[in-house]
Amino acid sequence: MTMDTLVSLCKRRGFIFQSSEIYGGTGSCYDYGPLGVELKQNIKRLLWRDFVQSRADMVGIDASILMHPTVWKASGHLDHFTDPMVDCRECRLRFRADHVDTLPWTHYCPATKGNKFTIPPGEPCGHCGARRTLCPDCGKGELTAPRQFNLMFKTFMGPVEEDASVAYLRPETAQAMFVNFDNVLQSMRMKLPFGIAQVGRSFRNEITPGNFIFRTREFEQMEIEYFVNPRDAVEGRAADEYWHDRWIADCMAWFRRYGLSEENLRLREHEKDELSHYSKRTVDIDYRFPIGWSELMGIANRTDFDLKQHAKFSGKSLTYFDEERKEHVVPYVVEPAMGVDRALLAFMADAYVEEEVRGERRVVLRFHPELAPVKVAVLPLLKKRDEIVRTAHVIRADLAKQWRVVYDDTAAIGRLYRRQDEVGTPYCVTVDVQTVGDSEKGEAGDGKVTIRERDSMEQARVPIDALRAVFHDLLSGGAWSQVATRFERQIEK
Ligand code: ATP
Repeated sequence: MTMDTLVSLCKRRGFIFQSSEIYGGTGSCYDYGPLGVELKQNIKRLLWRDFVQSRADMVGIDASILMHPTVWKASGHLDHFTDPMVDCRECRLRFRADHVDTLPWTHYCPATKGNKFTIPPGEPCGHCGARRTLCPDCGKGELTAPRQFNLMFKTFMGPVEEDASVAYLRPETAQAMFVNFDNVLQSMRMKLPFGIAQVGRSFRNEITPGNFIFRTREFEQMEIEYFVNPRDAVEGRAADEYWHDRWIADCMAWFRRYGLSEENLRLREHEKDELSHYSKRTVDIDYRFPIGWSELMGIANRTDFDLKQHAKFSGKSLTYFDEERKEHVVPYVVEPAMGVDRALLAFMADAYVEEEVRGERRVVLRFHPELAPVKVAVLPLLKKRDEIVRTAHVIRADLAKQWRVVYDDTAAIGRLYRRQDEVGTPYCVTVDVQTVGDSEKGEAGDGKVTIRERDSMEQARVPIDALRAVFHDLLSGGAWSQVATRFERQIEK
């Protein structure tokens, strides 16, 4: 499966659209459609439930995007949040200097009378053996020497555009947790170790965005700042080092739990010379995206850098009073930082399966039921029978009090099943003549409907009044094979 396959599925089925498409689109900005927004909200809800709500040592905040400009001086973003960029003197395209050799390049080969070739990243031309020196895109212009480019979006607060009113759109959510450290500590009476989490938008004026929602200029992050006492030891190790490994393991387990396969996940330790200025150790969780292995999230040990910097620039003390040792300490912080959009892309890529069923191609998104945008689709077998349609609507309305449930009667049943498979709906409920009976013939219905499971395509006949309880089991982790044995099983026709 390629990125293009995913992009086209996303558009066709209402997951993700190009932003402002009718105006020709805005560079690297995307809009989540009706199914995309459900999927993204499910990801954020599960993150919040598993990493905040269910843990006694975690709390959350929701801070504003515009912060005091000195925050970015203290954090180092004004001085260090830069990427080296190079420009093509011919076509004026701009690239990240460290990305140029990771792109396919255009070559007009002298050995073949100047024929144009597109050559895979980093490889020489197969005809003349030349390596790329010119612009990878147009293949003609020379590239300028690298210049540093700050990735923060600048704006102005208030009616006057002057330097005194400069503000920045936050390039990460982390800083709000540091500047609110004391507020949270005092108001919630937290004890170390504890963490503050936030999910929200970040903005980076990336030089070379691309690869669909993998790298965009506006995106969502979930970041956790987990504060520990550096003087403590856990299981014989320094607390910050122990918790760093714990968070790496917890995050890996979270991705596996919701469907990412083991063979598509790996850990990557940052080399010493690659570490950010604040980091003692950073480990990335990489995922094998359709574009190859790339960073899904990073987990860094930021030491006491941030709290110390903000204390210095604000003049406020940002310490924790260690009751046992009777001393003030500046906590160390372990930071798991995840991109919500990248997680969504990974979950989609991993869930995507194309298979052949009875001679026909079937596309399925095998989403974990808790991630699936739609949990149940209620489908009438015959839309001309009022009683069937009415019953289907009643079932939908009842189930929709708890879950995202849709009704569809716009095609024959086989088509409807395939459509739900393609968007990852784990269960369909079909209402048929047997359910409602035939009043003209004086036949009573059996009050049962067919539930069809997405992956096995197995079916079971279940009484309507048992549906809520059955879906409660199935959608909260119950296995279909277990639940279905309680009912009469059928084979998909
Ligand atoms: P990269 O090396 O890919 O630019 P980074 O190391 O700068 O990423 P961090 O600052 O560690 O990224 O941000 C944490 C996470 O936020 C990343 O792992 C990624 O999932 C997400 N993220 C960062 N930049 C972007 C972006 N431009 N678009 C989408 N997600 C992003």
